[in-house]
Amino acid sequence: MCGILGYVGNGNASDFLIEGLRRLEYRGYDSAGIAVYENGKIEIEKKAGRLVNLEKALESHPLRGNIGIGHTRWATHGKPSDVNAHPHGDENNHFVIVHNGIIENYMDLKKDLLKKGHVFKSETDSEVVAHLAEELDDGDFFSTVRKVLAVIDGSYSLVFMHDADPDTIICTKKDNPLIIGLGEDENFIASDIPAVINYTRRIYILNGGEIAVVKKDSVSVFSADGLPISKKVQEVT
Ligand code: GLU
Repeated sequence: MCGILGYVGNGNASDFLIEGLRRLEYRGYDSAGIAVYENGKIEIEKKAGRLVNLEKALESHPLRGNIGIGHTRWATHGKPSDVNAHPHGDENNHFVIVHNGIIENYMDLKKDLLKKGHVFKSETDSEVVAHLAEELDDGDFFSTVRKVLAVIDGSYSLVFMHDADPDTIICTKKDNPLIIGLGEDENFIASDIPAVINYTRRIYILNGGEIAVVKKDSVSVFSADGLPISKKVQEVT
């Protein structure tokens, strides 16, 4: 279990993501990566090893956009490598995800997805989540995520991006921490408060099973059965 981040707003997502990854470094990790929506596509850059490896790669291939997600990995399934680093996408990066934790039933899910013609790039348990979203896509991002959550078992914090809904990040958690930082015309997702503290002190702490739909000017939280919840804003002192 390592670190997760998300940004949606008017700023450059990469700036928050890289700074946030640095602030989550203390949790330990073996690889790091980010995904940003840029020119109609979700682009991914990820590298094994220290954060500086990712920063170097981003110097020659900068990702510029106003919405993105980031991850530091502590490998549980598949060796530390560029390919196994997160974010992971389906074949076309229609759905791109970052995951901390373990998808316990990924073997069965993967077997089934392979039969349906999905092509996997990594050895991770996490990659099934992106392919499942693509497979179960019903044209509604939120409903698709709920369909994915209905079939995966395990512990997770999970953040989803979808190229057909490029103003929205959806995140959820079970047995892993996840918070949402509430800004002005920008919102932040992180596994830990220090990652957002320079940007906002107003946060939502997600409870297990809750699903948040995060846009730059709104955060809506739902229960596992899809009903809206009114969350209390916590002020970090
Ligand atoms: N199980 C996933 C992997 O091995 C996520 C590990 C983590 O929490 O960083 O890629």
